[in-house]
Formats: sequence, structure tokens, C-alpha cells
Amino acid sequence: MTLRHVVIGAGMAGVLSAIKLHDAGEQVVVYEKASRIGGTWRENTYPGIACDVPSHLYSYSFAPNPEWSHTFAPGPEILAYLEAVAERSGILDMIRFDTEVVRLAWDDDRSQWDIDLSTGARDVADIVIAATGVLHHPRYPDIEGVSDFAGAVFHSARWDHSVPLEGARVGVIGTGSSAVQIVGALVDTVGSMTMFQRTPQWVLQVPNDPIADDIRTGYRADAGAMRALRDELAIGFETRFANAVVDADAPILAQIEELCRANLESHVLDADLRAKLTPDYRAACKRLVISPNFYESITRSNAHLVTDPIVRIEPKGVLTADGSLHELDVLVLATGFRVDQFLRPIDVVGRAGARLDDVWSARPSAYLSVSIPDFPNLFLLNGPNGPVGNFSLIDVAEIQFEYVMQLVARVRDGRCRAVSASRAAADRFERDRVEAAQRTVWVTGCRSWYLDDRGVPAAWPWTFTRFRELMAAPDLADYDLV
Ligand code: NAP
Repeated sequence: MTLRHVVIGAGMAGVLSAIKLHDAGEQVVVYEKASRIGGTWRENTYPGIACDVPSHLYSYSFAPNPEWSHTFAPGPEILAYLEAVAERSGILDMIRFDTEVVRLAWDDDRSQWDIDLSTGARDVADIVIAATGVLHHPRYPDIEGVSDFAGAVFHSARWDHSVPLEGARVGVIGTGSSAVQIVGALVDTVGSMTMFQRTPQWVLQVPNDPIADDIRTGYRADAGAMRALRDELAIGFETRFANAVVDADAPILAQIEELCRANLESHVLDADLRAKLTPDYRAACKRLVISPNFYESITRSNAHLVTDPIVRIEPKGVLTADGSLHELDVLVLATGFRVDQFLRPIDVVGRAGARLDDVWSARPSAYLSVSIPDFPNLFLLNGPNGPVGNFSLIDVAEIQFEYVMQLVARVRDGRCRAVSASRAAADRFERDRVEAAQRTVWVTGCRSWYLDDRGVPAAWPWTFTRFRELMAAPDLADYDLV
């Protein structure tokens, strides 16, 4: 049977899905709300943006890239890579740009999704793949007076490139990965750089050297060497880091903390500043920040770290609790993302009128991160409860896609018309994951975007190795096959 697949989103995971489906000769259309592909790499254009997963790992397994300029490639290079892969794979014609999916409604009689689009057009799909991203909806801080600021103010993921920065007095609210990269990239350009810190971060110093020409030439000539490099990076990442963060007692976490502390102590000689920058929680409890130069940047003579709480924003700048008004020309809100949205604001109506907004009213969840009971033939890539934050999301999406295709094959072969996780399996998964989450380093006493409204980590709480094993093949006993 020929199935019509609709993919929502043309970011890294949507492009992956389109390529794989196209290569398999399947019918596929991708709806993308923007006018360009790239997802997070299109939306985050702040100065200094780079991926902190090594580029040779943060690449599709089927499209190694010998041309990466650095160990951790800058954002624009990653965007160009995604665009080049999409173009040479011949999938650009399948993407409907500037078209947002507004509503998805399941028709049980036809076993199809009816789709309403922002253009007013409608479509139908046998299979929907939601590749709508995780760190997608900017979180604006609940600080009084933001709109009163007389200078330029914008979120890190909505960078306003028309605003001149040279010589400007720039403030950055936040100390996460985005803020740290912004401060490092701009401190030598701006007049002054003021970082407003609510919580200090553990920062691991990892150099980001250019990859030499002769090494790139070698990669061009030897595809096997590139594959071996990717495998080596994946195994190293998995065993030395990703598997450790889910075990609060893992010795490697103490070693990482020591490395972070040594980074701080060797670069920040002023005892007061060092004390302010020293976290009082364990390394990797919050998402670990990786930077080649953060402490060097924050100790520049034009850099200021403000730790007094923000009272409000005034037209001239930021007023803090000690009564100081920090006058600024530009204010960057590097305040993170709402990680509880996923598919929304799409209005998704499943079997018997079940609304996703109601099902997820407390918090989003999905069985093994890919399937939701009563929402048949709808699969999520990088959905709720998946491995995020400490893994290569490209690897995650590839593994999830192959798993989903094994379920879709049953519909294609006519062995069933509709497939979704059973309620019992989803409930069991939810119970097990909440219990396992209590053993992770993420619950050892810090605030972070990993935690849901109850303080339970929303992410995959087991090792990446277990993720790969469970995703090798679906256990059909956990699915309702209609
Ligand atoms: P984030 O890690 O969520 O950091 C948000 C920052 O804003 C935190 O320092 C937070 O303080 C602060 N903040 C939020 N509301 C505030 C308020 N009302 N007043 C004062 N401070 C406030 O966000 P992010 O830096 O954008 O990073 C999010 C994730 O994206 C990262 O963890 C990472 O997974 C990914 N990322 C990766 C890279 C990379 O690959 N290099 C780069 C950027 C982002 P508290 O800590 O006190 O909450």
C-alpha cells in the first residue's frame, strides 16, 4: 500500500525524515512554517553560536562532512551543511515553506489524519511525523519593565542583527550555554559587557581548534576514516559522558567537576569574582556548559558580572536589588526555552475526540518518546521524555526514525491500519521513567530546564546504551494495532 507521509518541520529531524522516506520511494510532503530549512540553526543566529557536540558526530550518519572547519562547528556552517545535504538529496521540492500546520484531526473510519494549514489549504496523511523540535519556543523572563527599555531588547534566539554592537553597552541576562557563547564572542567588540547571573554554572574548558587543511584533505579521500571517526566519537561521548549523567554516583561526574573547578581557578584569580562564579550544586546537574574561553572573557576589563537579583528593567537599564542601575544600550534575554510545548500550538485531535492539549494538560509525555495512546500513526522525533541535552540529537533522531519505520511498515504491509502505544505501556513507561529519574544527577539540587513542574527530570533517565537497545525494534505487545 502506498502511504502518504506528512512531516512537520524542516529542521534537522524533518530533513532526515524526508531524505529517508524519499530514498525509500515513499510519498512525502514536509510542512515548514518558515521560508528556509534548519530549525534551531536557522533561528539561533546569535554571535558565537556553535554546537557543543563535535561536528563529526553532529552530522547525519549517511552524510559525513570532511569539510567541518572546527571541532565544534559554528552555527552558520551547520545550517549550510543541512541545506547542502537537503539539496543534494533532492528533497527541497517536497517542502512546503511558509506553511504552518494548524490542526491535525484523526479520522478513525479512514485511518487518516486531516490536516489544516495556515494557508487555508487542507491535506490528508496516513502517517504524520512530528519533527517540531525541543528547544524551540523562547522563554521570556517574568521581569517587570522589559517593554519599557529604551534600547534594543531581544531574546538570544531572536537576534536582531540590525542593532549595532561595536562600542555598545550590552547586557546579557542568563548564564546558560547561549549566554556564555554570546559573552565570549562579543566581549572584545562591545564597549562593555554586563552578564546578569542568577545562578553560576560549571564550565568545562574544551578547546575549539580549526581542523587543519591536510586533515580535511585526508577525510575527503577516505570515507572509511570518517566513519571510523564518527563511531569513535559516538562511543566516547556515550561511555564517558552520556551514560554518566543518569547515574548520580558515577565517578566521572566528580572528575568533570574537578576539571571545571580547575578551569575556574586557573583563569579567575580575583577571589571575589571566583566565589561568585562558583556553583553550589554538582556539575552536570544543570546542563554542563562547554566553552573554550568563558572565564577569560568574563575577566576582561570591560566585562562585569552582576549577581544582585534583578528588580526591574527601566528605560535606561537594569535595576538590581543593591539599588544600582546598570545602564545599557542593548539587552539580550538569554533566558532559555519553554521545553513543554513540542507539537503545540498545533491543535491535535486524536481518536474519539481526544485533544492533545487535554492529554498533556499536566505535562507532555510519550511512550519511549515516540508515540502517544489514542493518537495513531502520529510519531514524534525528539519528543517528550527522549534523550536531550547530553546526546547528539542527530543520532537520537536517526535511531527514533528507524524504530518508527518498523511500526509504519506494518501499516504499509496491511497488517494493521493504525498503530499507537497502548495506554498500559505508556503508563508503565511513565512510572518507570519517573522512578529512574531519581537516580540521575539532574535531581541533586539545582534548577534547570530538565525539570518539569514537579521537579522531575522530563528527559530520558537511562543510559544512551539502553536507549539504543530499546529502540532496536518495537515490542509490539506495547502497541494497539488496529
Ligand atoms: P538555559 O540553559 O535554560 O539558560 C537560561 C538562563 O537564563 C539561566 O542562566 C537562567 O538562570 C537565566 N534566567 C531565566 N530566567 C531568568 C530570570 N527571570 N532572571 C534571571 N535569569 C534568568 O538556556 P540556553 O542558554 O539558551 O540553553 C538552553 C539549552 O540549549 C542548553 O542547555 C543546551 O542544551 C542548548 N544549547 C546548546 C548550545 C551548544 O551546543 N553550544 C548553545 C546554546 C544552547 P537560572 O540558571 O538561575 O535558571
